[in-house]
Amino acid sequence: NKAIHLRQRPEGIPSEEHFELVRTPLAKIKKGEVLVKNLWMSVDPYMRGRMTEQKSYVEPFAVGEVLDGGAIGEVIESDNPAFAVGSKVAHMNGWREYFVSNGSDLQPLPDMGVPVQAFLGVLGMPGMTAYTGLLNIGELKEDDHVFVSAASGAVGSIVCQIAKLKGCRVVGSVGSDAKAHYLMSELGVDAVVNYKTTDNLRSDIIKHCPNGIDVYFENVGGEHFEALLDVMNDHGRIALCGMIDQYNATAPAPGPANLAQILVKRLKVQGFIVTDHWDSYPAFVQEMAQWIQAEQVSWKETVYQGIEEAPEAFIGLFSGKNTGKMLVKLT
Ligand code: NDP
Repeated sequence: NKAIHLRQRPEGIPSEEHFELVRTPLAKIKKGEVLVKNLWMSVDPYMRGRMTEQKSYVEPFAVGEVLDGGAIGEVIESDNPAFAVGSKVAHMNGWREYFVSNGSDLQPLPDMGVPVQAFLGVLGMPGMTAYTGLLNIGELKEDDHVFVSAASGAVGSIVCQIAKLKGCRVVGSVGSDAKAHYLMSELGVDAVVNYKTTDNLRSDIIKHCPNGIDVYFENVGGEHFEALLDVMNDHGRIALCGMIDQYNATAPAPGPANLAQILVKRLKVQGFIVTDHWDSYPAFVQEMAQWIQAEQVSWKETVYQGIEEAPEAFIGLFSGKNTGKMLVKLT
């Protein structure tokens, strides 16, 4: 059984040396337990925060211990009547190939005719983040002008599609022309800014948002946040979902110079953590499944192969190696 442990806490951008591949004998199940073989695991930007010592809304990872995170597994041995051999389960025991469970931390997957790994993306935590962030926190209304940063990622690509479904004009920012092309040609996004090649992010955003922005779905922070404060319309809403620009920072980032825009424009800026909204997950799954079935929502995956590649997949999130959901396939 191979697993990835945190060898040391990264300073700045993580690298392979911060991770360690550890082999252990396969555990035997006891009465009431099941043996789960992981099929897919998720790597997510929030895990970077857990690699620091700082206490946040989730506990830090422990140095020398196995990492964890969202994953999908298959029950391969069972002494628990609630889980038949062959059943697929969602859980938080990622970063390892096998584990033993008494079942209390396993969620059986509903059969929705989608590949199981969709429950780590469009039908899982990132999809739910997009949905609740845009509709509940961003208070999206028909005809709103919407801006999405990290727009081609797991969360951003779903935000773009929901906003288009709701009749909004959508502009996104991404770090490559291929991602810009994907958003415009496959997801129907109205305009895209490549923040890596632009000479002036703020004026490029203004150029592509001639009527300003009513809802900003913020995944990046830093220069993006400051630029958008200037572009927001009066009474606009900013759903503060993530600040990936700052997750590897080794010094505090300078604050936006134009914070007064929040006051002058009467903006609502609200941070949110998706797990606080988990009671509406069943309603989300129902609506998202309908959109998928009607081919109104699609998704992309970037897949690394094998537990050995999990650190590389995770590190790749911070240089935009993924389009759509970053996943590791373990079989
Ligand atoms: P993504 O699939 O969007 O992957 C991260 C993407 O961010 C990369 O592909 C890259 O795309 C972009 N990126 C990386 N570094 C930078 C940078 N310095 N500046 C600008 N863009 C950058 O990840 P997720 O969809 O899982 O997460 C997106 C955001 O949502 C993150 O900030 C995450 O922390 C947050 N989040 C928040 C949740 C909550 O409950 N509040 C829950 C889930 C996610 P590119 O090539 O375009 O640069």
